[in-house]
Amino acid sequence: MNVTALTNESIRKKPASKRASRQRSSSTPLEVVRLCYNESPYGMPPKSHEALFAAETRSNNYPDFFAFELKKALAAEYSLETTNIITVAGSSALIDIIGCTFINPGDEVLYCSPTYEAFADMANAYGGVPAPIPLAGDLSFDLDGLYNAITPKTKIVVIVNPNNPTGGYVPSSKIEEFIRKAPDDILIVVDEAYIDFVDHPDNYSMVKLIQEGIDKPVLILRTFSKIYGMAGIRVGYGVSSPEVIDELAKSSHAWNVSNVSQAAAIVALGEKEFIANVKSEIVKGREYVSRELKRLGCAVNDTQANFIYFSSPLAPEDITAALKEKDVLIATFAWSRVSIGTPEENRAFIDALEEVLAEVALKEQSPA
Ligand code: PMP
Repeated sequence: MNVTALTNESIRKKPASKRASRQRSSSTPLEVVRLCYNESPYGMPPKSHEALFAAETRSNNYPDFFAFELKKALAAEYSLETTNIITVAGSSALIDIIGCTFINPGDEVLYCSPTYEAFADMANAYGGVPAPIPLAGDLSFDLDGLYNAITPKTKIVVIVNPNNPTGGYVPSSKIEEFIRKAPDDILIVVDEAYIDFVDHPDNYSMVKLIQEGIDKPVLILRTFSKIYGMAGIRVGYGVSSPEVIDELAKSSHAWNVSNVSQAAAIVALGEKEFIANVKSEIVKGREYVSRELKRLGCAVNDTQANFIYFSSPLAPEDITAALKEKDVLIATFAWSRVSIGTPEENRAFIDALEEVLAEVALKEQSPA
C-alpha cells in the first residue's frame, strides 16, 4: 500500500516538524511540574466552570456552529461587529485556516525566526514557502529586516508579539508603524496569544487598527488557552475586517467550537478581576524565575510572556532530560523555555535546576 503516492504534493513534500512528530510520541503526563506548554496553572474562572457544566447537559445537541453568542460577546468586548470575528477550536486551527484560504504553491510566508512553529507548518502544508528572518543578535524582533524581506512573492507576514519561544516583545506603536507602511496586497497576521501578560507602557492590541477600519488585510489572532486557562477546551478567535473574515469562514474548521467551550468562553470574558489576578501572579512568578535563573548563572532573555527563554552551561536537550528525571517538564529549542507556574511549581523548577547544575559541576571536578 503506497498511501504517500495518494497524498497531495504539499503534504508529500512537507518537512518533518517537531509539532507533527509529537503525534507518535507518548502523551505528556499531568501529575508532574508541567512547564513545557505555556499553560496557565490557574485554570479558567470558576464561573466559566459552572457555565461549562451547565452546557454539558446539552451534549446531545450540536453546538451553535456559528458561535453567534460568543461572537456577540467578543464584538461587544472590542466595540466591533460579529462580522469582524471568526471563532475556532484554538488559534492553531485558525493558523491552518489561514494557509488553506490564502496560500498558493510558491507563496512566501515571512516571519522572524525562531517563532511559533505552527506558521512554518502551515506554509509547508499548503505548498507555501516559509521565509524565516533571523532575530537580531540580541534575540529581538527585526522589524526592519522583515520589512526589507517583503518581495512580490510574499503572501503573508506573521508577527508573534510577545514572541514564542523567546518571550521578546516589540512595543505596540512599532508594530502599528510596520503594518501601516507594509504593502496592502499581503496578509499581515499578528498573533497576540500572550498579549494579556504584557507589562509594558507601550502596549495595545492591533485590534485598534480594525476598529479604525484600516484598509488592508490585517488579522489578529487571540486565544483562550493562555491567560483564560482554557487550553484543554480549545477556543480561539480572529479579529479582522469582514472581507478577511468572510474568506476565512469558508473553511468548515470555522464551525468547530464545542458547546461547552463557547459557554465557558462567553462567561470568561466578563471575569476581569480573575484575569487581572492571574496576570499579577504570572508577572510576579516570571520576576522570581528570571532572578533565580540569573543567580544560577543562566542567560535570560527579557520576556513579556508567561514563559522564559534561557540558556545555561548545559545543552538545552540535556537540561530537559535531566529535569524530566526529577518530574519537571520544560521545552527545548536553541535555548530552553520554561513556563511560569504556581509559586510552588516555580520553586520546584529552580530547585531541580540547581540540583542538576550542581551535579554537573561535581562531575566536572571529579577525576576521569
Ligand atoms: N500562537 C502562539 C504564539 C502560541 O504559542 C500558541 C500555543 N502554544 C498558539 C498560537 C495556539 O494556541 P491555541 O491553539 O491553544 O489557541
